[in-house]
Amino acid sequence: MTALEVQNLSVDYAQAHGRPFRAVHNLSFSLEAGRTLALVGESGSGKSSVLKALSRLVRPAEGRILLGGRDDVRGREYRRAVQMVFQDPFASLNPSHTIDHHLRRPLLATGRARRGAPADQAVTELLGQVNLTPAADVARKRPHELSGGQRQRVAIARALAPQPDVLLADEPVSMLDVSIRLEILNLLDRLKRERDLALLYVTHDLATARHFSSEIMVMYRGEVVERGPSDEVILSPKHPYTQLLAAAAPSTGATREQVREARQVRLAARAQRDAERREIVVGDGCRFRPRCPFAMDSCVQRPPEAQISPAADGGTGHRALCWLYAEGAERASAVTVPQQ
Ligand code: SF4
Ligand code: MG
Repeated sequence: MTALEVQNLSVDYAQAHGRPFRAVHNLSFSLEAGRTLALVGESGSGKSSVLKALSRLVRPAEGRILLGGRDDVRGREYRRAVQMVFQDPFASLNPSHTIDHHLRRPLLATGRARRGAPADQAVTELLGQVNLTPAADVARKRPHELSGGQRQRVAIARALAPQPDVLLADEPVSMLDVSIRLEILNLLDRLKRERDLALLYVTHDLATARHFSSEIMVMYRGEVVERGPSDEVILSPKHPYTQLLAAAAPSTGATREQVREARQVRLAARAQRDAERREIVVGDGCRFRPRCPFAMDSCVQRPPEAQISPAADGGTGHRALCWLYAEGAERASAVTVPQQ
């Protein structure tokens, strides 16, 4: 079942001068229950703005968000169905409240447990599900008495309390010790399967994106520039930006040649950084152009407007937003327009 569907979502922020800044541009995707979709990109790519729109913290300029096929889910019902795990487990927990309080409140507020013994039991169960035991000891503590990893487990338990359908995980391990990152990601993965959750995993780490998700979307400056099955996107990246990311993370399986290419791309990027800072106007050629070693005339004239299937797509749904794949009749025939 499609748990979450996003259609042509755009997010704008007002600026002191001139036109609003478009942080997310025409994003469409759907996410099935029990699946993980990774949203990958650097800071400033628009990942956080996507999450803000999905958690209704900002109102999209355009587009629709459907939960379970419905676009009229609002208010309490929406807040129950879509939960978020934040990047910083310390900032997201209230230092003056016990762990018990953090978990009990959403249980009661969403009617998942009644006061007293049922709520006690539900808190114990939640702590058990995130492997925080003995639950009675943990429940009495306050966030500062726990390690970063334990705090993130509490944050996950809290997000699960309302029994959401969609879990948004915003760089959930990037602030944790390297040694416990995999534990937390494995925990999220297990909970996703057990609870048939749709998990949107936002990260800048390609290796874990590949490992924990079935599909990857790569965002660059507000736009999805590449998407497809995780292995395809990471092992055979088509967009020059994804190639750069993949080569900069050798643990993902990049070849020496890719690493060398990435070095060249980085040098070009440095030389053109100023140009990029000035270039904020949408619709003025490809956004990646200032950093792209393959830029052609067509890249200056207009943005690649379709998600173009690389010639070797093989029916996998691998798409890149790049003129490189639009040359020649064969490739032109593989052009698909974004779904409306
Ligand atoms: Fe590079 Fe052109 Fe592709 Fe943009 S459209 S990524 S500038 S080749
Ligand atoms: Mg962020």
